[in-house]
Amino acid sequence: MIKVENLHKSFGKLDVLKGISTSIKQGEVVAIIGPSGSGKSTFLRCLNLLEEPTSGQVFINGQNVTSKKVDIMKVRQGVGMVFQHFHLFPHMTVLKNLTYAPNKVKKVAGAEAEKQAMELLEKVGLSAKANEYPNRLSGGQKQRVAIARALAMSPEVMLFDEPTSALDPEMVKEVLDVMKNLAETGMTMAIVTHEMGFAREVADRVLFLDNGQLVEDSPPEEFFVNPKSTRAKEFLEKIL
Ligand code: ADP
Ligand code: MG
Repeated sequence: MIKVENLHKSFGKLDVLKGISTSIKQGEVVAIIGPSGSGKSTFLRCLNLLEEPTSGQVFINGQNVTSKKVDIMKVRQGVGMVFQHFHLFPHMTVLKNLTYAPNKVKKVAGAEAEKQAMELLEKVGLSAKANEYPNRLSGGQKQRVAIARALAMSPEVMLFDEPTSALDPEMVKEVLDVMKNLAETGMTMAIVTHEMGFAREVADRVLFLDNGQLVEDSPPEEFFVNPKSTRAKEFLEKIL
């Protein structure tokens, strides 16, 4: 589903990604773990072209999205993204947050978009909040809306950048549960997270990034029990 070949990203003189190669299969759930500043967000943002890679290639479904000829908007439509700070449209109701892009971008008719949106809100346990505005929701509810909104575009892949890091502890589980259910439906997912329990339980693979390099790419049982690199060992000792 996703193939990354020798991906480099620099900001001026700062080399943030130093040649990352990996792939993610259809239906696979990959947890991306690593110290702050290691390049995790930049890596995710290169996958949906929120950042333009400096060199290297990214393929999504066989299409080279780093090619100059590609329609970036089209690529982004197929790749849903959920951010730490939700990024909901504050002046729109929850329902409108979900129907806006399908309406505008995919030209899905109003009634059909609303029907799909209500089904998605049902899935994330928020159909009762369809007509509320985001500022009336808790952090956990906002993030569940953000997930539903991303799903409303029927993406083939979902990217999550620390989706629970801005939440009060008691709201983390409701969001992780939604993500776990999504994983069980076979969605292809790449998740930057510090929730090690979740990564261990839900991910098929762990990618450990350190200093812009992919230091480990292993199944969770291997990564958490017997990390190969000293850097991963040290990281795990600090946080576990
Ligand atoms: P992580 O998500 O692992 O904490 P990031 O990918 O956000 O790491 O950042 C990696 C490095 O790239 C950091 O040193 C950060 O300051 C730098 N960086 C990220 N985005 C930009 C940007 N738009 N301009 C300049 N430097 C950036
Ligand atoms: Mg980050």
